[in-house]
Amino acid sequence: MTTWILTCSSCGREEPQDAGVGLCADCGQPFLVRFTSSPPSRDRILARWDLWRYAAALPLGEDEAPVCLGEGMTPLIESPALARHAGVRRLWVKDEGVNPTASFKARGLAAAVTRARARGVKGLVVPTAGNAGAALAAYGAAAGVPVRVYAPATTPRPILDTIRAMGVELVTIDGHIGDAGKRAVEFAKESGYFNVATLREPYRVEGNKTLGLELAEQLDWRLPDAVVYPTGGGEGVIGIWKAFDEMRAWGWITDKSPRIVVAQADGCAPIVKAHREGLDRATPWPNPQTHAAGLRVPGPLGDRLVLRAIRETSGEAASASEEAIVAATKMIASLTGIDAAPEGGCGLAVLIDLVVQGRLDPACQVVLYNTGSGASYRS
Ligand SMILES: *Cc1c(COP(=O)(O)O)cnc(C)c1O
Repeated sequence: MTTWILTCSSCGREEPQDAGVGLCADCGQPFLVRFTSSPPSRDRILARWDLWRYAAALPLGEDEAPVCLGEGMTPLIESPALARHAGVRRLWVKDEGVNPTASFKARGLAAAVTRARARGVKGLVVPTAGNAGAALAAYGAAAGVPVRVYAPATTPRPILDTIRAMGVELVTIDGHIGDAGKRAVEFAKESGYFNVATLREPYRVEGNKTLGLELAEQLDWRLPDAVVYPTGGGEGVIGIWKAFDEMRAWGWITDKSPRIVVAQADGCAPIVKAHREGLDRATPWPNPQTHAAGLRVPGPLGDRLVLRAIRETSGEAASASEEAIVAATKMIASLTGIDAAPEGGCGLAVLIDLVVQGRLDPACQVVLYNTGSGASYRS
């Protein structure tokens, strides 16, 4: 069992465990979980084959059964062919497309729905570029909690079909995830549903920590030189970064954090622009466009944390064109057999560019997160 408090990531304001808060009432920034229980030991990893094997390192109550659909424990596949193509010494792909509802969003929503159910929420609402809606629909169904999803009408058809299949309320809107976000905030206010939008609650990040915990365990508690993560709202990157920090504090690892490399699309690259300009926050991207739907997030709430993760790990941020994303997505599939999502392809395209530009050393060992499944984008 773990105990924890919530602390504002910007001003440090504290709230009690499971306070059910949204953003910080003082400064409007996201809360993160800080554990108050004794540091978990690696010996306490459970013999179960989903992310709850790390229950000792996650917010979970005594004897509490998590809402679980078998999320996590995804394959880490080394590909010498893809390493040659990218121009690096060793390259692994962590294939998140095999999660329930076919993306890494299962990790965060499993943790968030577990905590929300424990508080007895009336219902759950989320704005999404697609995959978070599919994951919330599934975990809401598993938990017996009503769900409403706001998604752009342009969301890939197979993802909308998955949301509908779970029997939840789906509202499609003209516009992007930022527009969906406003509708979700209004609906939460009038209905009493709890809003689990990216970083509006602290537990999706906790589930996403397991992206880093698993990686370390799969590499026998060593870490690569760099990890490449296709980034939209930023909860994936923030989760991985928190995992590396906590594992070092707990004595699980001694390696320093890998360089965190943020990959975005040329048509929506607010983090890349802010990082290049040396800023500590991003400005909203006008008219965001990319076929990598998960990356179409023009004004991420987690901008400051993502920019800090890049800076503090001596990381990088770069973007790729739509054509480069298409080519790299095909390359992952044809060289590895992994049915990569365009977001994963964006990661590879950015990796190739950074090596060519000399911003990543060809001698380095890299892990590329393929965050979803190519099947979700074919109609
Ligand atoms: C949501 C999503 C992303 C972006 O992840 P963030 O944590 O929002 O930065 C990348 N790829 C896929 C497939 C996604 O669904």
